Amino acid sequence: MTMDEHELTPAMGYVFSARWVDPCESLVSIFWKFARANSAAGHVMARLLGPEIDPYEGVAPRADVVDVRRLRHAFDVPPKMLYGSLIQTSKRGRCSDRLRRCHRCMGRGYHSVIHQFDRVDVCPAHHLPLETKCRRCGYEAPFVINVRLLEAPYRCANCRWAYGNKAYSPASHRPMTRAERIAICGKSYRLHFG
Ligand SMILES: [Zn+2]
Ligand SMILES: [Zn+2]
Repeated sequence: MTMDEHELTPAMGYVFSARWVDPCESLVSIFWKFARANSAAGHVMARLLGPEIDPYEGVAPRADVVDVRRLRHAFDVPPKMLYGSLIQTSKRGRCSDRLRRCHRCMGRGYHSVIHQFDRVDVCPAHHLPLETKCRRCGYEAPFVINVRLLEAPYRCANCRWAYGNKAYSPASHRPMTRAERIAICGKSYRLHFG
């Protein structure tokens, strides 16, 4: 472990709970939860990705480029869960390079790997069309973890418009409903094995 990785651990006053993470949650969403809970600066969080990554350029949250072993010290989440938060290498060509989001999922502080699949038009949990453009300024956020994205959790990085139907805080986190979980996990299974 390097000194950089030490900076974001509970010993340094940063908090994160695995209970805040829902099934099939994307690494972007996990980072955003960390950002909301800790008010950590984007360039500090981006350093978790590794010394070879330029924090301002960032990296796509894909299994072939992100090393989850580096992240487990900050997030204290089982490595399997972190690995599942990434776009799998074999599914790369079927996923969008823009952030695709559901208005209601964003309101509860959630974005899924499932939402990134091009052929998924609506959120499996809420049946709302997935959106890429900001409703206020039209900006389409690249699906890349970098300082710009990390400094606007659940918001447009260009104009700061809130993506969700309500504001999310980890302090009042409520787990996914059973129906939402079944819809998301079922879709994930079909996309990966169907
Ligand atoms: Zn949704
Ligand atoms: Zn905007």
